[in-house]
Amino acid sequence: MNGSNGSATRSSNSSSATLDRLSRAALRERAKRNPDNLLYWSEAYRNIGGASMLVPPALHAIYADTHPFMVVRKPSQVGVTEFNLNTAAWAADCGYAGRGVVLYLLPTQEMADRISQARMSKAILESPYLRRRAVPEPGIARGPANVQRRTIGPGVIYFCGSEQETQFSGIDADVVILDEFDLMQDEVLSLAQARLRSSRSPRLRVSSTPTISDFGISGLYELSDQQHYELPCPCCGVSQEPTLSESVDWDSFTVVCLQCHAPLDPWLEGRWLPQRSGEPEIHGYQLSRLVLPNPPLREMKLALDGKLPTTRETFHRQDLGQPFTSPESRLTPEVLDSCVEAWQPPAPLKMNVMGIDVGLKLHVVIRGRLRERWYLLEAFTVDSFEELEGCFQCYDIAFCVVDALPETREARRFQEAHPGVVWLAWYTPQGLDVDWSHQHGVVKAPRTFILDETLQRFRDKTYVLPSNVRSIEDGEYYRHLQAPVRTTELDGWGQSLAVYKHRQPDDFAHAEVYATLAAIRAKLSEGWIATFDWGDSGPQFTVLNRSDYSHR
Ligand SMILES: [Zn+2]
Repeated sequence: MNGSNGSATRSSNSSSATLDRLSRAALRERAKRNPDNLLYWSEAYRNIGGASMLVPPALHAIYADTHPFMVVRKPSQVGVTEFNLNTAAWAADCGYAGRGVVLYLLPTQEMADRISQARMSKAILESPYLRRRAVPEPGIARGPANVQRRTIGPGVIYFCGSEQETQFSGIDADVVILDEFDLMQDEVLSLAQARLRSSRSPRLRVSSTPTISDFGISGLYELSDQQHYELPCPCCGVSQEPTLSESVDWDSFTVVCLQCHAPLDPWLEGRWLPQRSGEPEIHGYQLSRLVLPNPPLREMKLALDGKLPTTRETFHRQDLGQPFTSPESRLTPEVLDSCVEAWQPPAPLKMNVMGIDVGLKLHVVIRGRLRERWYLLEAFTVDSFEELEGCFQCYDIAFCVVDALPETREARRFQEAHPGVVWLAWYTPQGLDVDWSHQHGVVKAPRTFILDETLQRFRDKTYVLPSNVRSIEDGEYYRHLQAPVRTTELDGWGQSLAVYKHRQPDDFAHAEVYATLAAIRAKLSEGWIATFDWGDSGPQFTVLNRSDYSHR
């Protein structure tokens, strides 16, 4: 979220470029003559600290864009929430598209209330024009009770949390704004698009600090025309996109020309250039702090030098506005390849487990244990549980864990056919305990925790893969395992929380998670016994171990 402090959008008084500012009367006249111009409206009617708002040139194209679907990928605090607020207030004020109905969505209702109360109220209070135009709802007391709905001129703005679909599912809007999109659930985008269907000129505005590539705002940006901003050098004239750290003079903390090292001036009009040609259905902008006034270079330097308690992940996302995926946050081809062993244990192993992910198809993995390591014996898909009976018998599956959703009935029937062997699994959002209910044959597992455990088993090579792993199910198995990415997001209270996200299909990864649960169940159900077993050097006495073969 953009804080009001440090925002790149500043009042004209505090900026270095008061240049030839138009008088207040001239600004209002310009806005009146161009009622469709959001930028003119904002500079005429928005005040910050007693002076009229001055929008930096890098944001001009974003203000001017009338495309129905626009996305902005950005670092934190670059004036985009201010842009969103201006869009909402302007659309309501001018009765945009005949109605002027705006739906402003934030990840949670609590965040929506905060934006409405702290930011929108302040914008209205600071502007004599908006104070006149903002109508208190008749019959509704002023105060927190009516912040979710604001009337400005003929239009209305609804501030809603995206997690409560019922709150906004009845609103027919002309403008929908999704702020901090990467913190929202997957389905919010299509729900938001549905709210625009009745508008004669719909506008969708999506902005966010990115999390991981291919996901959320980055997924949309990849589909867009991918515009980057170039600043002209006032000295040599070369147009360029400043980069960290090549464009920064760390002695003077200024952004300088790559060619002649003269300081660049963010108040000069630059240009946006698309990286993708054609007519994509989305207009996308990548914002950088370095093209905006007053980039917080000292803080960024401290962060770069590791002198601020910030992670590489946070720096990339919050400071650079770039998605970041650390190698440790997902299973990479290198990790998977390191699990490969050409040698496979001869059948039949005594302890075999099965994990089943339920979707349009059933994704199934079977693992067998030898000396505390679990070998992948099979990974395949079938259409129904009936088709599994054969290999269930053949491998003499000891424990099987099945995804209880989305289709519980079939899974339940499969469980009844294999009492004590098949468990139904539900993911829980948080926690550190796997909860087994023997009475119902149900296991509840914290999603992040058990995904962590599963990925760790690949990293420490407890999970062994066969040499044909890249070709299993036409490569799907290998691709699915790389799909879940561990990232952090903020919960409704601003606490960071580890979660796994994915954009690519990941069904086999979840089948492996269910196999992990089955393997944990296997361990829990076995007594600890000392036994003679086949060790690395032939038969040996093994304490606290069990035989992996039934008949040795
Ligand atoms: Zn230059």
